Amino acid sequence: MLTHAEIAALHLASYSAPAALYAAPGRVNLIGEHTDYSDGLVMPAAIDFATVVAISPRTDGRILIHSVNYDERIDKSQKELLDDNFATLRAGRELHWSDYPAGVLWVMREQGVAIDKGFSMTIAGNVPLGAGLSSSASIEVATAIAVLGATGVKLPLSKIALLCQRAENAYVGANCGIMDQFVSCCGQQDHAVMIDCRSLEYKLAPIPSNVRIVICNSMVKHSVAAGEYNSRRAQIEKGTEILQSHRSEIKALRDATVDDLAQWGSEMSPVVLKRCRHVITENARVMAAVEAFSASDLTLFGELMRQAHNSLRDDFEASCKEIDILVELAVKQPGCFGARLTGGGFGGCTVNLVDVNCVEAFTKAMSEGYLSATGIEAEIYTSRASDGAHAIVL
Ligand code: ADP
Ligand code: MG
Repeated sequence: MLTHAEIAALHLASYSAPAALYAAPGRVNLIGEHTDYSDGLVMPAAIDFATVVAISPRTDGRILIHSVNYDERIDKSQKELLDDNFATLRAGRELHWSDYPAGVLWVMREQGVAIDKGFSMTIAGNVPLGAGLSSSASIEVATAIAVLGATGVKLPLSKIALLCQRAENAYVGANCGIMDQFVSCCGQQDHAVMIDCRSLEYKLAPIPSNVRIVICNSMVKHSVAAGEYNSRRAQIEKGTEILQSHRSEIKALRDATVDDLAQWGSEMSPVVLKRCRHVITENARVMAAVEAFSASDLTLFGELMRQAHNSLRDDFEASCKEIDILVELAVKQPGCFGARLTGGGFGGCTVNLVDVNCVEAFTKAMSEGYLSATGIEAEIYTSRASDGAHAIVL
């Protein structure tokens, strides 16, 4: 990863214009999985891996974007980038990396932000791409604050998160909830962020200082992920409709309880019942997890992570063999308080809370154990919780 000064120098060399730099982090979800799109509770933390966007204004109306990660630059008019691309995407074209920043420019235009004179941008990030650590939210949020910074428009961070979610939903075409963009905006150093995905109110939960977040990347991403994600969303909607027909105040699964399931779950197919049970019990676990952090009770936090993993594996059926191997290996290691699948599932990463003094031994044991069990070399990242989106002062 280039340093900030190197990104600025590269931008100056490519475009002959000095840049302002902005960064937005990726995230890891500690607990609260697949709850954000039913108005529920989540508890992610921003990580110290981020995407940096360098930006300078233009006068010719064109938009030039260079991704250092992809070693590719696009150079388009606004119509080509925002309108023609949108049309080809909707017609089924495969995603291109530039669709993420383009989506953000598209929502900014919709908001009346003056983007018509164009921009030059250089984008470089060290969030692993497509690993479930939300490089997508980090590129969106970094682009958003860069464009807002360059045009002098101020918006609240929660509004920026919503706009970036809209970019991903309506432009890119990925039906994500609000968690990733929100924590990329509002993360805070050494804190997890408990987000109420209905009201967008959030509460910071201090992560005890003796703990590090260790992320194990299984290096697998099963191709069923996208289809399974959409089918889970449909199942959750189905279950919600059934509960709503009995209790009209249930607007989303967030409002339902285990008692509701006990009463009306028999009207659901067994699969829909399990999916709903995961979401309803997961919301309760998030609330308990906030308390556990506040009391610095890592044993309880770890137990909640264990339950959350089992629920995601058995009721939501979003795990896979490789991820389960990582979790079972992790919980046996000294100094590991808890481990679970994080992110959408079917591969990707596990999140582990590990005593700071045990991180080195943990990392070694995980790499060796996973390699011997699967033949795959995991990537392992250690992070503290980080600040959300911010301008970079060079
Ligand atoms: P995740 O969010 O888990 O990393 P996604 O598939 O949602 O996975 O988003 C990854 C995509 O985001 C990449 O394939 C790429 O298109 C885009 N992206 C993220 N970071 C960058 C970057 N630095 N440069 C260009 N595109 C990026
Ligand atoms: Mg993503």
